[in-house]
Amino acid sequence: MAKKVVIDAGHGGKDSGTVNNGIVEKDYTLKISNYIKKRLDDLGIQNSMTRTTDELLDQTTRPKRAQSFYGSGSDVIVLSNHLNAGGGDGAEVIYSLRNNDTLSKKIAKELENAGQNVRKYYQKRLPSNSAKDYYYLLRNTPNNETLIVEYGFTDNSNDANLIKNSWENLAEAVVKAIADYVGVPYSKDISNYYIVKKGDTLWSIAKNNGTTVEKIKEINNLKSNLLSIGQKLLLTNNTYTVKKGDTLYSIAKKYNTTVNNLKSVNNLKSDLLNIGQKLTIK
Ligand SMILES: [Zn+2]
Repeated sequence: MAKKVVIDAGHGGKDSGTVNNGIVEKDYTLKISNYIKKRLDDLGIQNSMTRTTDELLDQTTRPKRAQSFYGSGSDVIVLSNHLNAGGGDGAEVIYSLRNNDTLSKKIAKELENAGQNVRKYYQKRLPSNSAKDYYYLLRNTPNNETLIVEYGFTDNSNDANLIKNSWENLAEAVVKAIADYVGVPYSKDISNYYIVKKGDTLWSIAKNNGTTVEKIKEINNLKSNLLSIGQKLLLTNNTYTVKKGDTLYSIAKKYNTTVNNLKSVNNLKSDLLNIGQKLTIK
């Protein structure tokens, strides 16, 4: 079953969250959530938001709201966006006791690629009952795949600057990780997609674009030949998987592009690559 995403903007209303260095957490979590929503829409990943305005959601309402869209199945990712405070620096991802670390690890890796250091991705247990999650949203959204992303510390000046100047890059990093995790082809540029029109078939699209049905199915992870109007497809395989010994320079040379172009298209803030990392080639 295709995965759905519930995007939760932390805090809201009279609960501002942390406030430091000119950053009000509830406002940034909403900005980040709105950005992620737009981008998941671009990629054709079904999603909803727990709040779209400056609304207070109490500890009962928030988990209920999160499960009101797609239910309580494990095919629903609940992504709760937060900023941290308390004298540290870097991002954190907290995932629930019922889940493994696959998605959290991908998010951590993409945040690092976007220039933010990641302290850790981890699980946290309730002191009074170690069988339960520490955070209520994780505890009270079974059996969803619920996780909290803390993008950085508002009381750390480097993090505060990164959040203020590059929050869209950090949000995009999470979008990329989710796309990879749910098996939807990722591109930062919406103009790379072919949008299915009325009357299209895989066969007609393949024929008109000089490719094959098999290739389109492979690139887009399609299990059947059924298409829906508005569905977004990538028609060329522009993903390169980093192998041992690769550098941005060697990959750029191979694909007739530049290191700067690769970095911009893939939202990379450093030259470091990880084996297995997927890069979009344009
Ligand atoms: Zn928070």
